[in-house]
Amino acid sequence: MRRAEIAARLRAAGIEDYNEEAKRLFCHFSGMSPALALAEPGADCSAPALLAAIARREAREPLAYILEEAWFFDERYRVTPACLIPRQDTELLVEYAIEQLPTGALFADFCTGSGCIAISTLAHRPDARAEAYDISQAALALARENAEANGVRDRIFFHETDLLAARAPVFEKARYDMILSNPPYVTPAEWEEVAPELHHEPPVAFLGGEDGLVFYRHFITECASLLTKNGCFVFEIGYRQADGLRLLAEENGFTCEIRQDFGGRDRMAILKRIG
Ligand code: GLN
Repeated sequence: MRRAEIAARLRAAGIEDYNEEAKRLFCHFSGMSPALALAEPGADCSAPALLAAIARREAREPLAYILEEAWFFDERYRVTPACLIPRQDTELLVEYAIEQLPTGALFADFCTGSGCIAISTLAHRPDARAEAYDISQAALALARENAEANGVRDRIFFHETDLLAARAPVFEKARYDMILSNPPYVTPAEWEEVAPELHHEPPVAFLGGEDGLVFYRHFITECASLLTKNGCFVFEIGYRQADGLRLLAEENGFTCEIRQDFGGRDRMAILKRIG
């Protein structure tokens, strides 16, 4: 199959970026470099794996799962349906952490999934250490593998924990300079309207209760004692959740700064203790 034919099939399946995706599928399964594939548009590949991959993509399985690869920040991640596919907007949290973590910091990544937030931060802050939490054993296995592949395995510790069941006394004592999290924050109503690709990702990574705020509420009320004196929470949020976060912060003695994503929508909340 030639690249143009793959592109035509993807286009017919309603895939927006059909040319780029056809190129990536073709190069991945033919072993041809993108430069060579560009120079030889008529190149043909009929590897059964390529044909199977096209069929999966036509069924709207995300390309990242088919290639088992996602780039986040400067790092390459292996991704499977056991974890959420890292999103570019989440890089905001990593940028903030790299800039703001104190020297020799210990930070937490709640709901780590592929491990992307903690691992990319560690990759650019060789003085820092992290503890990453997730409820899913399969996601944690991937995160461990990604930590190893990105050279930070000796500075990260993984916990298999149901964070919503965990209350402050479960943890030992205040120790994190920052708690970062991109928790599930989609409401059941929003879930009904998402693109078909998202239904291939684990629902547990998206659904954040009736108002989408369940995880933030729990972290702010139950886990604040884990922060050092000047420690802060850094959350990714849904674009309609800024007011909800401001209120939660106010009720619990925190200031709340909201920052926008690359599309100009509210996407990050930074909570610091008042006083
Ligand atoms: N922390 C991971 C990410 O940002 C997973 C988040 C999640 O599963 N909700 O991609």
